[in-house]
Amino acid sequence: MLTGAGISTDSGIPDFRGPRGVWTEDPIAELLSTYDNYMADPELRQRAWIARRDNPAWQARPNAAHRALVRLAQARTVNIVTQNIDRLHQRAGSPPESVVEIHGNMFEVECTVCDFRTTMSATLERVAAGEPDPPCPDCGGILKAAVIMFGQQLNLRSMLTAQLVAETSDIFLGVGTSLQVEPAASLCGIAVEHGADLVIVNAEPTPYDSMATEVIRDPIGTALPDLVADLLARPDS
Ligand SMILES: [Zn+2]
Repeated sequence: MLTGAGISTDSGIPDFRGPRGVWTEDPIAELLSTYDNYMADPELRQRAWIARRDNPAWQARPNAAHRALVRLAQARTVNIVTQNIDRLHQRAGSPPESVVEIHGNMFEVECTVCDFRTTMSATLERVAAGEPDPPCPDCGGILKAAVIMFGQQLNLRSMLTAQLVAETSDIFLGVGTSLQVEPAASLCGIAVEHGADLVIVNAEPTPYDSMATEVIRDPIGTALPDLVADLLARPDS
C-alpha cells in the first residue's frame, strides 16, 4: 500500500498542499524544503532548524488509521510505502522492516557530503546550545534532515523496494494521497498492471480513481478501520 499526508492529518500534522497546508500558509516553508536554496543560504538553514524544532509532528500520536494497519499486519502480509516523514506507522507498531519511507524521515539527520548520520534530537540540542547551523562533526559539511527535499532525487533503493511492493501486492491501497506526485503515484498503476486490486481511500478525486476497484471518500480515520475489518473478515485471498 501507499500512504500519504491524509493518513496523518487526524494526528494533527497538516497536509502540505491542502487548503490549510503548511506551504499554502507559509511560502517560506517551501523555500526551506528546496535543496538548492537550503544549500546556498546559511540563514535559511538556521530557519530550517528552528522550523524542525517547532514542528507539530514531534507531539503527534498515531491515530485509528495507523493502528488499523497494525491489526491488518497481524493477519496478513502488509508492506507500507509511505510519503510521510513522521514515523507514525512505526510508532503505531508497524514493523519498521515493513515500512518504506520514500521521502525519508524527520527523526534523522544526514551530512550532504559524507556518510555521517545522527538523530534530529541530537542536532537540535546543538542548535539549542548555540550552533545555529551545526556542521558535520566528521567533515564540516552541511547537515540536513534525512528527508527528500524538492530538487533532490529519491533514494534508489527505497524506490526499488517500493516498486517491488507494488508488483507483489494482491490488494494495493492508496490512502490519503492525492496521487499527483511522481514517481510515488505510478506505484498504483504498477500494482494494477501486476494484477492487484486497487483501493483508493482519499477525500478528493485522484488520477487513478478510474483504475480502482473501489474508491472510498469517507474520512480516513473511520474508513480505514472499516476497510481493515472488512479485509480481516474475508477468507484469505
Ligand atoms: Zn560529513
